[in-house]
Amino acid sequence: MKGSIKQRFQSRLAERQSQALYRQRPLVSSPQAVTMTINGQAYINFCSNDYLGLAGHPKIKDVVCKDKAAGWGSGAAHLVTGHHHYHQQLEQALASWLGTERALLFSTGYMANLAVQQTLMQSGDVIIADKLNHASLIDGALASSADFKRYPHLDYAALSRRLASTEQQALIVTDSVFSMDGDLADIAHLTQLADQHQAWLLVDDAHAMGVLGEQGRGSFSHFGVMPAADHILMGTFGKAFGTSGAFVAGSDLLIESLIQFARPFIYTTAMSPLNALATLTALELVQEGDQLRARLKANITQLRQGLADLGMPLLPSASAIQPVLCRDAAQAVSWSEQLKTAGFWVAAIRPPTVAQARLRITLSASHQPEQIAGLIEAFAQLTKQ
Ligand code: PMP
Repeated sequence: MKGSIKQRFQSRLAERQSQALYRQRPLVSSPQAVTMTINGQAYINFCSNDYLGLAGHPKIKDVVCKDKAAGWGSGAAHLVTGHHHYHQQLEQALASWLGTERALLFSTGYMANLAVQQTLMQSGDVIIADKLNHASLIDGALASSADFKRYPHLDYAALSRRLASTEQQALIVTDSVFSMDGDLADIAHLTQLADQHQAWLLVDDAHAMGVLGEQGRGSFSHFGVMPAADHILMGTFGKAFGTSGAFVAGSDLLIESLIQFARPFIYTTAMSPLNALATLTALELVQEGDQLRARLKANITQLRQGLADLGMPLLPSASAIQPVLCRDAAQAVSWSEQLKTAGFWVAAIRPPTVAQARLRITLSASHQPEQIAGLIEAFAQLTKQ
């Protein structure tokens, strides 16, 4: 009905508010770091994805500030005049590091996930996805013209049955580290299922790249498998790399097809060349980052131990993502507010993003043991109430 949009928005917003589901954008006025100024107040930040603490790294800032010759803007899409030699260098460095034929940059991971699924799959094909995949993978599947089926989280027996019972060309799609639960898909098992059923496999390594595997090469390396021709690796730079943007790594055939046909690649401005330069430096820091990864691991162990001792409901996650389940959205919001009062910024994640409301703690190599001890103590105060 004409004129109904305004009313629809008003009632949807009111509903969100009444269910303690209203989303806010906290205003950050400090560099991205463990100690952050948010809405004018200093907090210890426990919800950034800056897993290795590279977002504010001086080497990255220096390299960008020193290059006065390159402009900030790319000025156009890659296929027009936006493809700069820093983009090219980064793509080549990623492919040789990961052991794939080629890699292709995207402005965001969201767009990379749309691009792969839209381009690879067509009507008559089927995308078979883990039930807890990231929203961008779900949106990518829905935006492709293939059928879309989901298997229960990490249930590879169910996935195997589905693959065995279809004649359709299948693409298996999974997060490696799941963004809201922090647990890990079994990439070795998935590559084996894909090969057995002549399916392709897309792995979203957003939360694994830089953190897992030899030199931080991600989940394939963690499981000791090399990506084969019909395995596709998507990684993002906005997390452990501390910059922004994303890439897809895979066969020459895949990358050439994405360049020719992927609308989220073709019809968008290329990322800043200086962001590509910053990411090249971040890649070096990731490669030599074993000490950072060891610090992150120690931080994860300290937090899990402390919260388990308090009897907090944790999930089986060995990653930097450590959710604490809450009774409902109202409790998640109330706990998050109380932690803020104690000086800790921890995000409350609520439906519809997740089925069960939770506090989602993320750790960084930059957290100091006493900051983690402080957070555990703040949880102890919460549980006393
Ligand atoms: N995949 C996963 C698993 C993610 O967590 C995210 C970001 N939250 C994305 C993809 C999207 O990446 P980007 O932020 O670069 O769009």
